[in-house]
Amino acid sequence: MKVVKFGGSSLATGAQLEKVFDIVAQDPKRRAVVVSAPGKRHTADTKVTDLLIACAERYLSNGEAPELVEEIVGRYADIALEVGLGNEVIGLIRSDLLRLLQSDKQSPERFIDAIKASGEDNNAKLVAAYFRHRGVEAHYVNPKDAGLFVTSEPGNAQVLPESYDNLFQLRQEPGIIVFPGFFGFNEEGEVITFSRSGSDITGSILANGLKAELYENFTDVDAVYTVNPSIVPHPKEIRELTYREMRELSYAGFSVFHDEALIPAFRTNIPVQIKNTNNPSAEGTRVVTKRDNTNGPVVGIASDSGFCSIYISKYLMNREIGFGRRVLQILEDDGLTYEHIPSGIDDMTIILRQNQMDDTIENRVIKRLKDELDADEVTVEHNIALVMVVGEAMRHNVGTTARAAKALSDARVNIEMINQGSSEVSMMFGVKEAQEKQAVRALYQEFFAKVIV
Ligand code: ASP
Repeated sequence: MKVVKFGGSSLATGAQLEKVFDIVAQDPKRRAVVVSAPGKRHTADTKVTDLLIACAERYLSNGEAPELVEEIVGRYADIALEVGLGNEVIGLIRSDLLRLLQSDKQSPERFIDAIKASGEDNNAKLVAAYFRHRGVEAHYVNPKDAGLFVTSEPGNAQVLPESYDNLFQLRQEPGIIVFPGFFGFNEEGEVITFSRSGSDITGSILANGLKAELYENFTDVDAVYTVNPSIVPHPKEIRELTYREMRELSYAGFSVFHDEALIPAFRTNIPVQIKNTNNPSAEGTRVVTKRDNTNGPVVGIASDSGFCSIYISKYLMNREIGFGRRVLQILEDDGLTYEHIPSGIDDMTIILRQNQMDDTIENRVIKRLKDELDADEVTVEHNIALVMVVGEAMRHNVGTTARAAKALSDARVNIEMINQGSSEVSMMFGVKEAQEKQAVRALYQEFFAKVIV
């Protein structure tokens, strides 16, 4: 069997829902359907998930939000009306939302999670009702009944291992199962959501649990592109890439597929096929364990901005036992996570996401690094972009770094930092945000657009 996941834009309108039905009906192996909440109908629109968050926050502060409730229910009602479904399911959705809004608010974060999750939960009910309306045997499955259990951190759930065996039982269910994405239940039976865009994660967990042969992820682009199309117009599509390559690319700004969603499928070797709901005959992109490395060393180029670097230098740092541990302890004390630590003999640079630190935290961290480590110099640089050149074949190719560095220097991009992990799946260049696009274009030109004579 195949697990098929549809994102919010694939379920934003009645016309989209009809496409979803046709895609599922076309292949009898598509027996498990994972759905997001209705997404944007056009660029300026708001996702139902964002409306739900606003609604939950309004309830917490004002105790009511009648217009938002109407707007949210209205989104489902519009879809139902467009596809000719009766009012019954909308009545259920309205009463479910109103019931949840009256629920316990002692932990605001958990309350928000419960409201947020209702976006997918109610959409799964709507989708199942529509499939039945079209004469197909389909039913909604509640993640609690199915045993999808997760950790308790609101907005950042992690699946608990016993879920996989529980979900395997769903294979016995007749017809098509429609499963809401984005959340599971903790051991206390409370709803906890994954991080944003987490329906991809649900799909992957379900594929693993059901031992599916394929996980199809339907979205609104024809393929994963070799580079961000808003930086390089009409870039080449990627036909096939490995989980590790996909992980590196989605980490650095490729938002087509959630980076946490790769692990469950990868562990059971289930290929992930990314496809377009609006153009289902397009081949799409396949994520696999191993691929033929015949098309050059680089599979894609990603970039992301909003980083800062903390540079620490101290003479004889290399001989000081415990220096690195103490640096990391100072970061840990302020709850900071880091992305990379390129280092030299007497210096190290820590790259972190800038939005974790306000001025107070930054000053405190700098002061502690200076005082407690007796560093010669500690400086912070803001507004750094990381550009990642990704490809497993770099391992067997000589000269890829040289080509990348030359392309950047020819484009007059100043490289602030280079880091290549020992896995050699990716190469990271730190550049000033103002030069990010220039850097990406130069690298694309070098690895994908150059005519080799
Ligand atoms: N609806 C949720 C979000 O907007 C989850 C998802 O669509 O995957 O983040």
